[in-house]
Amino acid sequence: PETITVQELANRMAERGADVIKALMRMGVMATINQTIDADTAELIIGEFGHSFRRVSASDVEIGLMGEEDRDSNLVPRPPVVTIMGHVDHGKTSLLDALRQTDVAAHEAGGITQHIGAYQVNLEDGKKITFIDTPGHAAFSEMRARGANVTDIVVLVVAADDGIMQQTVEAIHHAKAAKVPIIIAINKMDKPGANPGRVRQELLNHEIVTEEMGGEVLTVEVSAKQKLNLDKLEEALLLQAEILDLKANPDRAAQGAVVEAKLERGRGTVATLLVQKGTLKVGDIFVAGTEWGRVRALLDDRGRPVESAGPAVPVEVLGLQGTPLAGDNFVVVESEARAREITEFRQHTHRQKVAAASARGTLEQMFSKI
Ligand code: GDP
Ligand code: MG
Repeated sequence: PETITVQELANRMAERGADVIKALMRMGVMATINQTIDADTAELIIGEFGHSFRRVSASDVEIGLMGEEDRDSNLVPRPPVVTIMGHVDHGKTSLLDALRQTDVAAHEAGGITQHIGAYQVNLEDGKKITFIDTPGHAAFSEMRARGANVTDIVVLVVAADDGIMQQTVEAIHHAKAAKVPIIIAINKMDKPGANPGRVRQELLNHEIVTEEMGGEVLTVEVSAKQKLNLDKLEEALLLQAEILDLKANPDRAAQGAVVEAKLERGRGTVATLLVQKGTLKVGDIFVAGTEWGRVRALLDDRGRPVESAGPAVPVEVLGLQGTPLAGDNFVVVESEARAREITEFRQHTHRQKVAAASARGTLEQMFSKI
């Protein structure tokens, strides 16, 4: 049922909260400033104060926001988006850094790699792979919980000298829950105690049957430290991507997900966005979660300004009015008015939920004291 807090109602009418509470009391409704009342009661109160109103529901405001489904004829192949997961110290960060160095332009003059929330590796044959640069299943599941499904393939890093550990198992569960295919990177093959056979054996206990064990899960024996077999890992990722037949329409208003966002002194909110559909351009107006912005500048994963970003391309964006959360979806809209309408509605809905939860908390506290 639709509800509104007394505070929110008073704010929207530009009336004092105490006056609204008094009006409610006259109607026989006892409510504090933070409590919610139902929409019918709110309507009576609004009438009492002589204001006008219009009821809007989420579906009215959000209708048409995501645009139409793409036709098959508009879809073109896009790079895979990869997240690296695994137990602590098994080499996630080392592997991300080593893979970043395999970019054909990684060593060009002035090609300083900068850490934004994601990066893209350009391979020799013109193929590309996008990596989410926040390893770990906490980030993965947090993004999924907020509605973003950005990962096409999970690379599960397992140290060859350590085997399957608790967080390895957790990562397997997260990837399976998300129905995302897993490729196993057996890392630290340079170490004397490396035992890849044991890793494959242990994976069986978690319903991961590798090719060597007669299953379909690809494994690659690597060393992030010695940069061993990184090309084989990339080949495996491209092979898996081909099987997944990943495609997107670049010729539409952009949509995607917020990979990370933070407020930076002198720059305002800086967000790493991953475009999933369409092409994001400088000047575009977009909504991200409860925030909106106009793209003032786009920077690629090396900090170079770009005019646009297509599917599977991560970009840093400047121009947000507020700071969205990692995992929020973003979508380009036609006007600032539309952006404001949507974000105001979402912020309102969010405040209602918070207020309702805290009111429930207060009630529970009251009853627990009785
Ligand atoms: P994370 O916690 O999974 O991100 O792991 P890190 O990338 O921080 O690596 C943990 C430790 O393992 C560091 O001391 C790395 O230098 C080391 N390490 C990572 N990859 C390799 C490897 O391939 N071989 C060896 N010998 N050490 C590695
Ligand atoms: Mg790390």
